[in-house]
Amino acid sequence: MESNEKTLTVVALGGNAILKPGQEGTAKQQIENVNETTQQLAKMVLSGEYKIVVSHGNGPQVGNLMLQNELAKEEVPSHPLDVCGAESQGFIGYMLSQSLDNVFNENGRGDIPVATVLTQTLIDGDDPAFNDPSKPVGPFYTEEAATELKEEKDYDMIEDAGRGYRRVVPSPAPKEIVEKEPIRQLLAAHTVVIAAGGGGIPVVREGDKLVGREAVIDKDLATEQLAEDVDAELLVILTDVENVYLNYNQPDEEALDQVTVEEARSYIDEGHFARGSMKPKVKAGIEFVESGGDKAVITSLSKVQEALDGNTGTTITS
Ligand code: ADP
Ligand code: MG
Repeated sequence: MESNEKTLTVVALGGNAILKPGQEGTAKQQIENVNETTQQLAKMVLSGEYKIVVSHGNGPQVGNLMLQNELAKEEVPSHPLDVCGAESQGFIGYMLSQSLDNVFNENGRGDIPVATVLTQTLIDGDDPAFNDPSKPVGPFYTEEAATELKEEKDYDMIEDAGRGYRRVVPSPAPKEIVEKEPIRQLLAAHTVVIAAGGGGIPVVREGDKLVGREAVIDKDLATEQLAEDVDAELLVILTDVENVYLNYNQPDEEALDQVTVEEARSYIDEGHFARGSMKPKVKAGIEFVESGGDKAVITSLSKVQEALDGNTGTTITS
């Protein structure tokens, strides 16, 4: 197949692609998980059918960096959330790039270039999310420590389901991927690109300057923005469930295979998808198709091949 006939696909990796539930998060564990993940990604590329851009989550990783900063703050100045986001994008990108390079090499395709683009995502400084910080980030604190952080740093703190106190930050909507042009150029040069990790670093425009903000952009919504900005044909959201379900975890649970944008939207309105987990994925799928994408597929990392062949997963089309 000619390279210009390849389907331009943006693939979002969920948390389990890098760290599995219950793992503490050593570098070794993460590299091992990433090595499994890149086997799946490499199959897509080596089939000759897809040109891919890969995004990923960073929740546990950025949480650990925040904890390291917190514990070492008397010795080393602590970094704000946007800088921690950049650090986590950097190391996860490093693992994914190196691992993909290695798989391509093992398959005699060391000629396929791979690059991670440290990504900033433009948000609106007036986004209503700034009046309602709701995304929990970083470590848990005692009530006393939480009160102190509130006073010292003006953090917003909430009590999280009996597990302790946590900082919450705004989760604004992505408007544009700042590095979209260089990403497009890399794709035109047949490079496998890793971008928009953790939703990208949230930045606002102040006059003609870009400035970082302490916020978290939903990874799936940022991935959708990336897919629009590179004119992708296909959006693939990989997570830890094979399908999107109606009545999830209920006795009458029902796996969705093919849904239209209209159906997906009414299922959202009926409250089938949890806020902060499945809902943004379905929303991303809807927005992608509405903006001109062919289809969005939501499935598990291990079932990606079957889902691409149309044999499992949930597909959203117009
Ligand atoms: P990731 O880290 O892979 O991006 P999340 O953990 O945020 O993913 O979201 C995936 C989770 O969404 C699933 O593990 C599942 O528990 C949850 N979920 C909530 N509602 C649904 C639903 N209706 N169908 C499928 N999964 C759902
Ligand atoms: Mg998760």
